[in-house]
Amino acid sequence: MNKPKFVLVAHMGHDAPWLQIKTMREVKERRAHIRAYKPKHERPLRLKLLKIVNEPLPPELTKAYTAREKAYTAWMKADAAWDRAIVSREGVAFHKRVCGCAWTPKKPNILLQLATLE
Ligand SMILES: [Zn+2]
Repeated sequence: MNKPKFVLVAHMGHDAPWLQIKTMREVKERRAHIRAYKPKHERPLRLKLLKIVNEPLPPELTKAYTAREKAYTAWMKADAAWDRAIVSREGVAFHKRVCGCAWTPKKPNILLQLATLE
């Protein structure tokens, strides 16, 4: 599991929290969205204020950031455990009971069943 690299970013949106923790991909997508869809007269200000913040965080923000990091790591572990559980023998048996379609962990693409519906 690769943990994405996060950056601090100011003013992702006009009414969003002023400082957010995002991936660079999210920042790039937001900038592209602004360039493509926001009113033309708003774009320069939006793009100017949407900034990556590289300054060291003050103590209170560091504390909150660290807590968030711990929670994120725990969340990622829980997600991975969930992903393993749903394809375990018990998870597959549960799928069979509640759904019963042709899905299996080795053939997870449910659209492969389209041929059998026709
Ligand atoms: Zn199914």
